[in-house]
Amino acid sequence: MKLKPIFEDVKRPVQILGPCSAETEEQVLETARQLAENNAKVDLFRAGIWKPRTRPNSFEGIGAEGLQWLKKVREEYGFKITTEVANAQHTYEALKAQVDVFWLGARTTVNPFSVQEVADALKGADVPVLVKNPINPDLKLWMGAIERLYNVGITRIGAIHRGFSKFGKSVYRNIPQWQIPLELKREFPDIEIITDASHICGNRENLYEISQFALDLNMDGIMLETHPTPDDAWSDAAQQVTPKVLQENILSKLIVRSEGADDPLFLHNIEDLRSQIDLIDKEVIQLYADRMNLAEKIGEFKLQNNIAIYQQGRWSDVLERAMDKAGPLGLSETFVNRILKAVHQESIDRQEEVMKASQGKSIEK
Ligand code: PEP
Ligand code: MN
Repeated sequence: MKLKPIFEDVKRPVQILGPCSAETEEQVLETARQLAENNAKVDLFRAGIWKPRTRPNSFEGIGAEGLQWLKKVREEYGFKITTEVANAQHTYEALKAQVDVFWLGARTTVNPFSVQEVADALKGADVPVLVKNPINPDLKLWMGAIERLYNVGITRIGAIHRGFSKFGKSVYRNIPQWQIPLELKREFPDIEIITDASHICGNRENLYEISQFALDLNMDGIMLETHPTPDDAWSDAAQQVTPKVLQENILSKLIVRSEGADDPLFLHNIEDLRSQIDLIDKEVIQLYADRMNLAEKIGEFKLQNNIAIYQQGRWSDVLERAMDKAGPLGLSETFVNRILKAVHQESIDRQEEVMKASQGKSIEK
């Protein structure tokens, strides 16, 4: 798959700004006016026209009429425009209005039937499409939506990372799980990724921090929701800020770090550190292999003595000892916990193999 960029000539970070929803013509135009007045760099002006809401009886979007307001924004302020399409009808309407960039929402990406419907409606149209991650942390589903668009001939495809839903409490409305967009980039190295900080945060407090972190991870841009009177917004009020606050407290404070540098001293130093890291990784892998060989020996021993593989007391000891050592070394409990759980699981699997092999069966994975 050879994806083409959507924002090739745009200075990083790409900025997609605008209200969650188009509510009235005045609100849409006023948002654009205030963005312009505050000198915000608007690479794309966003507004939802058809709003997929989690529960009924919320504002479900103004419909096709709102496209005319977006067109006015483009005419009066020169901002390119983008909106969400979720079915064939939306797609035809947006094509008719010559929307510059289309986007698929999280609730669309999650459903291959809907993605296919939009893809089929786009067949033959050379428009760029941004694909939001699905609601659930499923990389394959995200990739699948991108592939469905590619298969109908769309080549300018980008991704929007808007976080993943969770059950229970978190500081974020949608937890970022940064490893998933990074993995998407590994699978599709040409893809441009935009971080939708507004939907990750769900509130105003962490917008700057998430946006900066996105840039530190070398994401291509950010999407942020803005409204002239955020508290009165018809959707997502808690996460919207005025264009002035957006520009002054968030956008103007972002620090863009360059991906590579030409400075030979910098390159020398970083190469040196990277080779030390590579060496450590090699040693760590060897140590894990040694550890697993020992686990297998223990498995054989347990087998001969008819002892259960899982020993609660032993596992608690291992964990506790590692935590005692990790704290003073500055390693977080979460990190150590994750590693040890993975190691312990692998160790159990290896011992199980030993037991099964003795019964003449190998376990299915
Ligand atoms: C939106 O961008 O307003 C929206 C509905 O987002 P998501 O699809 O990420 O929930
Ligand atoms: Mn929104």
